[in-house]
Amino acid sequence: MKIAVLKEAAGETRCAAIPETVKKFVALGADVAVESGSGAGASIADSDFEAAGATIGSRAEVLKGAGLLLTVAGPDPETLKGAERDALLVGALDPVRQRQFIDGYAAAGLEALAMEWMPRITRAQSMDVLSSQSNLSGYKAVVDAAATYGRAFPMMMTAAGTVSPAKVFVMGVGVAGLQAIATARRLGAQVSATDVRSATREQIQSLGAKPIFVENVAGIEGEGTGGYATEMSEEYQKAQAELVSGHIAKQDIVITTALIPGRLAPRLISDAQLATMRAGSVIVDLAAEAGGNVEGTVAGESVARHGVTIIGASNLARSLPADSSALFARNLYNFLSAFWDQEQKRPVLPDDDEIVKAIRLTKDGKVVSERLTAA
Ligand code: NAD
Repeated sequence: MKIAVLKEAAGETRCAAIPETVKKFVALGADVAVESGSGAGASIADSDFEAAGATIGSRAEVLKGAGLLLTVAGPDPETLKGAERDALLVGALDPVRQRQFIDGYAAAGLEALAMEWMPRITRAQSMDVLSSQSNLSGYKAVVDAAATYGRAFPMMMTAAGTVSPAKVFVMGVGVAGLQAIATARRLGAQVSATDVRSATREQIQSLGAKPIFVENVAGIEGEGTGGYATEMSEEYQKAQAELVSGHIAKQDIVITTALIPGRLAPRLISDAQLATMRAGSVIVDLAAEAGGNVEGTVAGESVARHGVTIIGASNLARSLPADSSALFARNLYNFLSAFWDQEQKRPVLPDDDEIVKAIRLTKDGKVVSERLTAA
């Protein structure tokens, strides 16, 4: 089987393959063709891919005869002219927002697979692009906050006096939130964190941070369904708002990461609460693209309100392209190698497999994903 690695559209810094995964695909018996310049954003030269066993070519050259197309973001179907019918297209295809592209893949006869719809089951953990990219985003959110904050994070005892440690509050303790807590702790901040899922309380403590939880109204038991939160009751939201009001005025940095699948991000900080924070405080809103956890967040921009800087973070993993490409590329390899048929030397995707059912969007000229057809 020939595998094509596609160069991403402008603005996307990541690459769907790295030399390590190219070597591994070659070892499985595949031919790998990398579109020239694919790795530039992630500091990988064409010659690095060649040394790993790939050939380099134009878009038309890599598409020709390829049964498997690897991408980070979903390409415009117009740019895939010349692709083989029935080729697999695998990447973070953003199926809901890019629905027109998905229809285009179906029309071109491609079998499109959306990696971000990977189910949260143990078998699929190493294939989970949302987790791998969120981890890096959680780290980068804290680094960006530290770079913007006009004070230091750690306590410093100097001859000229003491610098007090920054107080960091992390709201939403999933993959990104946990990494944000760990990063802020490493930088020497005093860290507290909150979530609606009760399982996170111990995780917060184990990282040396202080859990701040709504006590009088029940949250979500344990991990929640598949690790996901749902929208909370009005009673809970009110109790949470009171809790935040009491805590936030004492914080210097807030990192918000709260998301609810398929919905707008929950609003966790109001403008009035923001106004109680000390001037110079910094908020990084990782939920910016889903509408934001903070009132006034603008996705992709930094705005100042009441002397507080709100960074509307947008796809922070892109700002660490070498690492985010490496993790993304390994997620793709782990998925494809798990379904690799040694004799046919290609992935075989059974219709009744839980993973295949969750991520397959199109096949045989049609949109087949129930999540899309039901919408
Ligand atoms: P996410 O991005 O969906 O949400 C981020 C966090 O925000 C979650 O912890 C959620 O509970 C929290 N949140 C939602 N509404 C909130 C509110 N109103 N107030 C405060 N917090 C709120 O979550 P995620 O980072 O993708 O992962 C969440 C969990 O799923 C983790 O425990 C992770 O270990 C698990 N997970 C499992 C697998 C697997 O088994 N394959 C893969 C990925 C993640």
